[in-house]
Amino acid sequence: MLVIGLTGGIGSGKTTVANLFAQLDIPIIDTDVIAREVTQPGQPALAEIEKHFGADILQADGTLNRGKLRDIIFNHVNERHWLENLLHPRIRKSMEAQIQALTSPYCIAVIPLLLEVEFYSMVNRILVVDASQQAQVERVMQRDKVSHSQVESILKNQASRQDRVARAHDVITNDGRIEDLTEQVEALNKKYLALASKST
Ligand code: ATP
Repeated sequence: MLVIGLTGGIGSGKTTVANLFAQLDIPIIDTDVIAREVTQPGQPALAEIEKHFGADILQADGTLNRGKLRDIIFNHVNERHWLENLLHPRIRKSMEAQIQALTSPYCIAVIPLLLEVEFYSMVNRILVVDASQQAQVERVMQRDKVSHSQVESILKNQASRQDRVARAHDVITNDGRIEDLTEQVEALNKKYLALASKST
């Protein structure tokens, strides 16, 4: 199975691009979705998080207070590492199981932190969605109703645009209209289908 790791900075358009591949019947594995699944009530990882951060990390209904957790790990790098050590092996295991179950020629794995963490070994190629910083800031401000400085501080903590593009096998440019993405996705789909047929 050819696994394409789809990554990009905040608000670059990863989800938008993944949806276009999904419309072409390509299966999508999303590590953000898996991260939410493994931290649902009843999951061992949530019990570990409660033990580590205290009961205040949960909301009244027993679900994880994701905003609070995000604030903590954003401001304390050692806590971020602790959380990554807890979640990443579980996320990898779930990804592997999902990939095993697929019968399509290739799949797209959406991995926002592909360059920052150790998910390299799980993908065959890296596809980067690249957008200007201005576009990223504007889109996230509008989507999440957050301030300019909040988006900029998140951007500062992520891999740089140059680093990402330098490590990409393929790049989708998302600086124009959403409609402009369709053609780029269709061209890559053809390329990946050809690559997948060669590798089997
Ligand atoms: P995150 O890292 O925050 O999860 P993402 O990389 O998945 O974000 P999307 O959610 O796909 O990015 O896009 C961010 C927002 O910008 C969405 O509201 C989306 O509809 C919008 N958007 C994406 N591409 C464009 C575009 N070319 N023009 C206008 N809006 C866009």
